[in-house]
Amino acid sequence: MIIIMKPNASQEAIAKITRTIQDSDLQVHLSKGHQVTIIGVVGDKSRLQGKNLEIADGVDKIVAVTESYKLANKKFHPDQSVIPVGTTTIGPDSLTIMAGPCAVENQEQMMETAFAVKKAGATFLRGGAYKPRTSPYSFQGLEETGLRYMKEAREATGLNVICEVTSQHAIESAVKYVDMLQIGARNMQNFELLKEAGKSGMPVLLKRGLSATIDEWLNAAEYIMSEGNEQVVLCERGIRTYETATRNTLDISAVPVLRSRTHLPVIVDPSHATGVRAYVAPLARAAVAAGADGLMIEVHPNPACALSDGPQSLTFDQFQELAGELRPYADLAGRKLG
Ligand code: PEP
Ligand code: MN
Repeated sequence: MIIIMKPNASQEAIAKITRTIQDSDLQVHLSKGHQVTIIGVVGDKSRLQGKNLEIADGVDKIVAVTESYKLANKKFHPDQSVIPVGTTTIGPDSLTIMAGPCAVENQEQMMETAFAVKKAGATFLRGGAYKPRTSPYSFQGLEETGLRYMKEAREATGLNVICEVTSQHAIESAVKYVDMLQIGARNMQNFELLKEAGKSGMPVLLKRGLSATIDEWLNAAEYIMSEGNEQVVLCERGIRTYETATRNTLDISAVPVLRSRTHLPVIVDPSHATGVRAYVAPLARAAVAAGADGLMIEVHPNPACALSDGPQSLTFDQFQELAGELRPYADLAGRKLG
């Protein structure tokens, strides 16, 4: 449930209610908005029976939160969250662009790509050092060596870096090298991994599962947040449908749906959503128009030779062109790009 305080509620009244909740062994989540303060309560609210909070000093009303996700819920935090990551923030004022290869392949590839995507306006370099591939015989990633290449590219360019983690061991390594952890689609409901990502205290990009509903996705975010880590960003990357013309089907409606249900930022990955290079730009434009806070785009120095996801990767020139095309869209949406 949430307790909505009156606009003129005193600090003392807020503190008194907070104490009553904590004394009942419940968790408090305080959200101080422009107008009002909202006190979120997590746990078994029957413990508050008989406390008469609805008539307590400063209380406007009490609203039940029926959804199973609480900390991720917009009712707990009506203002959109801004997530600080490395040297930047992800949120409503900017259009964050994360770009780079599907997999980290070698040092030169990462360095070249970092400079190219930075020049075009990206603020994040992406790259997979642990690759959850469909086949066990496909390239599985360079692991810690790959993370080292990412860190070197970060030091050379000032870009923030993000890498997918697939195990607790990968998290332990990644925290030493990157600014943000990525939980991939295949692990969206790997609850132990979500808890470990939560405990790491690092910002987490949580991709939507291949067949996950929005409700399941928000509950996955709740797993991370319930470990005390509220630095979560959601990434729509396409879902499985009967359509085979594209690798997945981009659920563009997820952007406004999430906006109405959660305060967490939402970015869109048109590369994995389509699997086809030619469709990346139109869907990137659509994502910005729909209100996304950012984009994740695969870029490779030579997509024809990429060890994974070449057909959906843009060349440096194509990425530069797309970033240029996106600028007027970002302006219209009131967001700063780069
Ligand atoms: C990726 O970003 O490289 C990736 C594997 O994406 P997804 O988890 O969305 O398939
Ligand atoms: Mn990929």
